Amino acid sequence: MSFKTLDDLPADIAGKRVLVRVDLNVPMADGVVTDRTRIRRVVPTISELSNKGAKVILLAHFGRPKGKVVPEMSLRPVAQAVEEELDHRVDFAADCIGEAAKKEIDEMADGDVVLLENTRFHPGEEKNDPELAKSIAENGDIYVNDAFSAAHRAHATTEGLARLLPAFAGRTMQAELEALEKGLGAPQKPVVAIVGGAKVSTKIDLLQNLVKKVDALVIGGGMANTFLAAKGVDVAKSLCEHDLADTANAIMTEAVSAGCTIVLPIDAVVAREFKAGADNETVDIDAVPADTMILDVGPATVAKVNGWIDQAATLVWNGPLGAFEIAPFDASTVSAARFAAEQTTAGELVSVAGGGDTVAALNHAGVADAFTYVSTAGGAFLEWMEGKELPGVAALAA
Ligand code: ADP
Ligand code: MG
Repeated sequence: MSFKTLDDLPADIAGKRVLVRVDLNVPMADGVVTDRTRIRRVVPTISELSNKGAKVILLAHFGRPKGKVVPEMSLRPVAQAVEEELDHRVDFAADCIGEAAKKEIDEMADGDVVLLENTRFHPGEEKNDPELAKSIAENGDIYVNDAFSAAHRAHATTEGLARLLPAFAGRTMQAELEALEKGLGAPQKPVVAIVGGAKVSTKIDLLQNLVKKVDALVIGGGMANTFLAAKGVDVAKSLCEHDLADTANAIMTEAVSAGCTIVLPIDAVVAREFKAGADNETVDIDAVPADTMILDVGPATVAKVNGWIDQAATLVWNGPLGAFEIAPFDASTVSAARFAAEQTTAGELVSVAGGGDTVAALNHAGVADAFTYVSTAGGAFLEWMEGKELPGVAALAA
């Protein structure tokens, strides 16, 4: 898809009021922001606009206040953290519409930055109410969306506003969309996907979309057990959704007709308890002892997975290959992650990964920075991997 970026802004935006949708849904404890990753990601767009003399008006949600004013979900303490990361003063308006917003915005000088209060304090935000979008649009000349992580929702500030004002993707949104395009939109072939994690039930749409798009699909983690069981393998006490055998078989059949090779574990690391340092052994996949559960794929499987990564030009990855939170069941995930990182660094691979636990696993392996792109967008990343149109992105289409 094509969309406008900050490069397409009118030449002189000094003095223009730019409404910028950002993701400031940061973790907070006792009124203090505990992780500023999301704030750092939106700094480039804010700085660029402010440096060009635009009046930068930030729109964001925080938590789930369900359309009511909930004082604990105020963005006021976040303004402070944004100010520090930006190294530029950030004013705050106690409402995103009405007199409070208008007064702050009227007082802005060129290059100033104002954060408006939590947009979800208004019920119209999540309902994508055109009246709310209109009230917000009255305070702006231009709309910029830099919140990919909220783009799977058609809300007033993620979708409605884009229909009312000239709309552009911010730098972080742009980077995310360009990376995703390289991952699955128009990837270099062969494309290999790794999908792991706990359950098939949370990733059925994802698996169905991937078998149509990739050359090989590696299935690991707890969800591999469901596929193995559907093929008649005894997975003993492993996490397994036996009721999804038909779904697993249907996905495997679809893969055959789409020419996608499904790669399942050929060996496993098993234990009798789900606990760090639990006694464990490595067994062939058809020799899982009756009183054990599979907590990681084995070394023969890792060698096979790394062989696929070696052949791939593009890798997309969601979900760990094993229970990576507890050693030593992190071994396969760490090994494959490091190999993918080496290949990427050597210029042999485009690697795109995402998902809450996947990001944690790549950080644990110490390789998140070496991947081509690691998405922290959660739901929006998964919906994109599922092949769904994201309303916040569609609304930016040029
Ligand atoms: P993401 O958040 O990246 O989308 P998921 O939430 O789908 O990933 O999956 C992560 C979870 O899967 C982890 O908590 C991990 O312990 C679990 N998991 C992986 N392999 C196994 C396994 N063999 N048995 C039980 N749980 C597993
Ligand atoms: Mg998860």
